[in-house]
This record gives sequence, C-alpha cells and structure tokens, in this order.
Amino acid sequence: MYIQAANPNQHSMNTATADSAPTENIRPTGEANAFNRSTLIPVVFILALAIRYISMRRRIHANKAVLKKGTFHKFCLVSKTVLTHNTAIYNFGLPNADDVLGLPIGQHISIKENIDGKDIMRSYTPTSLDSETKGSFELLVKSYPNGNISKFIGNLNIGDEINVCGPAGNYHYEPNCRNKLGMIAGGTGIAPMFQIMKAIYLNPKDTTEVTLLYGNVQEADILLRKELDEMVKMRPDQFKVIYLLDKTDRDDWEGEIGYVTLDLMEKYMPSPKEEGVQMLLCGPPRMVGSAKRNAVTMGYARGKPLSKMEDQVFIF
Ligand SMILES: Cc1cc2nc3c(=O)[nH]c(=O)nc-3n(C[C@H](O)[C@H](O)[C@H](O)COP(=O)(O)OP(=O)(O)OC[C@H]3O[C@@H](n4cnc5c(N)ncnc54)[C@H](O)[C@@H]3O)c2cc1C
Repeated sequence: MYIQAANPNQHSMNTATADSAPTENIRPTGEANAFNRSTLIPVVFILALAIRYISMRRRIHANKAVLKKGTFHKFCLVSKTVLTHNTAIYNFGLPNADDVLGLPIGQHISIKENIDGKDIMRSYTPTSLDSETKGSFELLVKSYPNGNISKFIGNLNIGDEINVCGPAGNYHYEPNCRNKLGMIAGGTGIAPMFQIMKAIYLNPKDTTEVTLLYGNVQEADILLRKELDEMVKMRPDQFKVIYLLDKTDRDDWEGEIGYVTLDLMEKYMPSPKEEGVQMLLCGPPRMVGSAKRNAVTMGYARGKPLSKMEDQVFIF
C-alpha cells in the first residue's frame, strides 16, 4: 500500500516538471524516486520479516507450556508400555507436536476422575522432562486392584482421556540448588526422585551429588532399574543407588534387606552437618514416618507436615 501511494505522486511531479523546466527538475525527482524505492523496499522487507518473527515467537510461546495452574486439561492416551503385571508407562499426547507439559522439576500433576459418583484426585510425577520430550509426556503408574485413580489409569485404552491439572507441589528443583541430596523412596515414590535425578544427569553443569535408598517388597518390583543403574554406571562419583528389599531368595543379593532403619540411613545418607544437604522422602506413609524420625535422630531439622523447598527434610 505504501508503494502504491508513492507512484501516483511520482507521475504528477514528472508531468508538472516536463511543462516548465525539463532538465533541472526531472533529474532530482528521478533520484528522489530511486531513493524512495531503494529505501522503501528493504524497510518493508525488514518490517515484514519482523512481523513474521514476532508472530512466530508468539505462536511458539503460546504452544510451549500447556499446563495452566487452576485449569483442567484433557489428554489422550497415545501408547502404553507394560513393565510388570501391575505397572506400565503411559504416554499422553499434548495438543501440538512442539508443546511441552510445562512442569517445573520436582512438581507433579493431579489427575481427577469421577469414580462411583465421587470426584477423586491423586498426584503423579511424570518421568519425562520438558527439556527432552515435546508433544507428549510420560507417567509411570502402578495400578492397585482396590485403587481408584491408579486402577482407572490401568484400565485406559488408547485414545481414552484423563483430566489433569497442575503444576502442583512445593518442591522446585533448580540446578546446583543443593550440594548433596539424600533420597529415600518406596515403590512408586521413585517417580519424583527419578525426575530430579534425570534432570541432574542430563545437565553436565549440575554437580549435585545424589544418594538414593530405594525400598521395594521384592526385586521384581524395582521400577526404572535400568535407567537408575545407567546413571550410576556413567557417573559413579555423582550418583549412588542402594536397593532395599523386604525379602529375597537370592544368596548373591548385593543390596540391603529389611526396612529403612536408622543404621541404614546413617550408613548411606549424607550428614546433615555438611553444607547444602537436603533429604527427600516419598513412599508409603509408614516408611516416610520412620525415615522422618530417624532423620531427626541423625541431626536433620524436623520435617514439616507441609514441606517447603527450603526445608532440610522435604516430604513429597
Ligand atoms: C508427589 C506424589 C507423586 C506421585 N507420583 C506417582 C507416580 O508417578 N506413579 C504412581 O503410580 N503413583 C504416584 N503417586 C501415588 C499416587 O498419588 C496414588 O496414591 C496411587 O496411585 C494410589 O492411588 P489410588 O487412587 O489408585 O488408590 P487409593 O484410592 O489412594 O487407595 C485405595 C486402595 O488402593 C490400595 N493402595 C493405594 N496405594 C497403595 C500403596 N502405596 N501400597 C499398597 N496399596 C495401595 C490400597 O488397597 C488402598 O486401600 C504419587 C504420590 C505423590 C504424593
């Protein structure tokens, strides 16, 4: 439009000058027109590029983080990988291929469903990270026969939807926010620990040392073992994982046997006297309760019922 408006002008000026002073007036006008055209074209071109770039960035930003606090979203089950008779990894699709879930490391989502006329909501921590997974997210879920949401998820078919809100939780891991993390997890309590460990592992600049004491009933119940062992193998000075079983028939079991005791915690967990140490707990209430008490005996500050990021003992 700008260029079109310049042309009629150019025509009338040329006509006017042709009548009165042909030589003096035509040359400068021609130069001015050439100048106008040569400056306008790149300006318009740059403007068009800038507008395209801004709208592209807006579109990317709008698509990037899907979760909005306080809003429920529906996500479809895209695929399911069965791990054991009651545990599977569920992959849920996001609206666009370059979307990310938008969940800070250490936080979780809530899944709400109406079961037998009652709204029931439970927490789940994705095992995928926004930094490495676009267009979908992954949940590792153990389904209990008498469970509500875990059973609902276990019965999902490809294409079925779940209702998700989040981010939720008071823990927000930032690289190097602690020197050492002592983690105690039981069963699916591994989910938030794994997410944090994976974020540390994938960031070569994060030097936080992690020791995980991971309890399960039997060896077959250990979740994400291959992934955990890989971290230890690749960075033995940074990651330590001790498996703890209620029972085993194996004589050559190299892990520990029994419950999470004070002795075990003193043997493996970092001392609370060291600089920048934090203990993270997630698992069955009895395990968490006893680990909390043992931590106090070790000299850790008492874990609060509603943990905060700055607490020395954080309970998920
Ligand atoms: C921060 C956080 C993150 C979590 N992340 C995950 C995750 O990624 N994956 C995951 O699978 N779970 C995770 N959980 C646990 C999850 O929130 C539910 O508690 C679990 O799925 C059971 O919910 P439900 O509705 O099926 O059972 P509920 O309605 O809570 O319980 C009903 C019955 O199910 C059985 N049951 C429930 N829980 C257990 C248990 N731990 N041991 C034995 N029997 C049980 C019991 O028979 C119980 O009476 C997380 C919990 C928290 C707090």
